[in-house]
Amino acid sequence: MKISQNLNSIINEIPEHVTLVAISKTHPPEVVMEAYNAGQRLFGENKVQELITKYESLPKDIQWHLVGHLQTNKVKYIAPFVSLIHSVDSLKILKEINKGGEKNNRVIDCLFQMHIAEEDTKFGLSYEELIEILNSKEYKSFKHVRIVGLMGMATFTQDLTQVRREFNGLSNIFKEIKSKYLTEMPSFNKLSMGMSGDYTIAIEEGSTMIRVGSSIFGERFYGTN
Ligand SMILES: *Cc1c(COP(=O)(O)O)cnc(C)c1O
Repeated sequence: MKISQNLNSIINEIPEHVTLVAISKTHPPEVVMEAYNAGQRLFGENKVQELITKYESLPKDIQWHLVGHLQTNKVKYIAPFVSLIHSVDSLKILKEINKGGEKNNRVIDCLFQMHIAEEDTKFGLSYEELIEILNSKEYKSFKHVRIVGLMGMATFTQDLTQVRREFNGLSNIFKEIKSKYLTEMPSFNKLSMGMSGDYTIAIEEGSTMIRVGSSIFGERFYGTN
C-alpha cells in the first residue's frame, strides 16, 4: 500500500517526458511485486547477481536496468535480457557488452556514465575520455551496442547549489554530444540523472530519466543477505 502511494506521488509530480526507474536493490522480490502490482514495469539494480536473481523470479514483462558498475566477466550473465546498462565507463566494457549482444543476437542499449561528482570514488568518464571513445575506430565498429544517452551521479552533499551545478554540467555535455554526433547516434536521447534526494533538481536541469530507490521502497537494509 505504502509503496504504491509513494510511486503514484512521484509519477504525479514528474513531467511526462521523464522516465522513472524504480531502484529495487536490497529489497526482496515480494516487495518489488508491490510496485509491479501498482503498475511499475521499469526496475533497476546495481549488482549483477541481484539483477539475475530478480529477473528469474519476477514477471517477464519487467524491463531490467543495470545502474551499478559492471565488470567484464559478468557481462555474459545479463546480456540475454538487460534492457539498459547505465554504467558504461570504458571502451573495454563496451567491447564486452558488444560481444554479449552479438552472442545473443541483439543490440544492447547503453548509457555512458560520466564522472560529475567531486568524490573520486564514483565511477565515470571525463569529457575527454568520452570524446576519445566516440572518435575511436573500435567504437564505431560495434554493431551490437547502441548508445542512447548519458548517466551521472552528483556529489553526496547538502550543498544543493553544487548538486545543481554538477547536473547542469552533465546536461551541457549531453546537449553538445547530441548535436555533434547526431547523425551517428540518432537515438541518443536519454539523460539519466537524479535519485531520491535530488531528482527534482535533476529534472529542472534537463534529466529525462530518474533512478529512485528509497523514496519508493523506504530505507535499505544492508548486511542481511
Ligand atoms: C541506489 C542507487 C540509486 C537510488 O538511490 P536512492 O537514493 O535510494 O534513490 C540510483 N542510482 C544508482 C546508481 C544507485 O546505485
